[in-house]
Amino acid sequence: MSISNPDSLKVEIDERVPDLVAMRRDLHEHPELAFEEVRTSGIVAQRLRSLGLEVQTGIAKTGVVGLLRGGASAADAKTIAIRADMDALPIHELNNIEYRSQTDGKMHACGHDGHTSILLTVADILSQRRAELTGNVKFIFQPAEEQIGGAEPMVKEGALNGVDGIIGLHLISNHPLGLVGVRAGTVFASADRFVLTVRGKGGHAAMPNGAIDPIVASAYTITALQTLISREISPFSPAVITIGTINAGTAFNIIPETAVMQGTMRAYSIEDREKLLRRISEVATGVVTSLGATCDIERFDGCPPCVNDPAMTELVRKAAVATVGEKNVDTGEDVLTAGSDDMGVFLNTVPGCYFIVGSGNKAKETDYSHHHPRFNVDEDALPTAVEVLTRAALDFIRK
Ligand SMILES: [Zn+2]
Ligand SMILES: [Zn+2]
Repeated sequence: MSISNPDSLKVEIDERVPDLVAMRRDLHEHPELAFEEVRTSGIVAQRLRSLGLEVQTGIAKTGVVGLLRGGASAADAKTIAIRADMDALPIHELNNIEYRSQTDGKMHACGHDGHTSILLTVADILSQRRAELTGNVKFIFQPAEEQIGGAEPMVKEGALNGVDGIIGLHLISNHPLGLVGVRAGTVFASADRFVLTVRGKGGHAAMPNGAIDPIVASAYTITALQTLISREISPFSPAVITIGTINAGTAFNIIPETAVMQGTMRAYSIEDREKLLRRISEVATGVVTSLGATCDIERFDGCPPCVNDPAMTELVRKAAVATVGEKNVDTGEDVLTAGSDDMGVFLNTVPGCYFIVGSGNKAKETDYSHHHPRFNVDEDALPTAVEVLTRAALDFIRK
């Protein structure tokens, strides 16, 4: 049996571009929010089944996994997973395009419509080569990336069972079309949301000695939390603590009973994340208690940083060079973002690489930031992403 010429790959991709674009536009017109991706996951499952893959649905509610078993796989064959996210955002689309969102208040404003159609196209191409594949490929379509919460249940429900490595990509509008960004180590920060409820004792504003002021206690807490970044984290390891809301009080002359703050914490290493989560709790409790108040801390599902494995990163870098040429592959610090992505959960479980594909093009107005009501994807980025993923997967499972 002859192995297809890898350079025939560009032809195979070209043939599928009309379908790829049509698929992406259809998904764009029908955005679905986190854990509501019923139509989207239905399309994904139906397409994967029609390609002859073993398909599991209903993983983490609306997640789908398709397994392509290579026809030339030995017992010790490797399995690579490729992951895409499917959810949209609660944003009202302001683009004036023929495939504009048909649902007011919902929009694919992060490019996940692109990711889903890219991965379905990779599944199509690789399934046509099934007979010659010396390993297996698992296609993972996860729900609920935006609100963080889709990846973890998918891993718990076995999506990565039997998987030796994982790859995935994010289309990025603030990187130019044609550029692929691949870098080892941390590329996306961790993200954790927390709520601090400070309980004091209400009273008259003119008689503070009879009260315990939760606003003053909150003010000291906010300042003290910033010292965690400036005094306890290495200057070479970025981290962020932001208190984004503070709510307390009803009138100028009343000391309220409680003050509630919400914040987010971002870190670039798993160690810093764990340390900061512990220290936020210790510092807030310590400061508040010293002022006579009490403090409750609630933490919500966060996600770890996306940390790329060096060997998996090299695999993707080579695939990117073969696709767009060395000069269009960025391995520098521009690849980093303080944004987060729950791909970190997968990367924390098996070695992998999350890379970026530039989709920004001023001429086509696709350079608005992610989550902007005019965000859009230059569809010329889609086949580039398909090619990098396909080449990396073929290289990984090669004997
Ligand atoms: Zn997003
Ligand atoms: Zn996203």
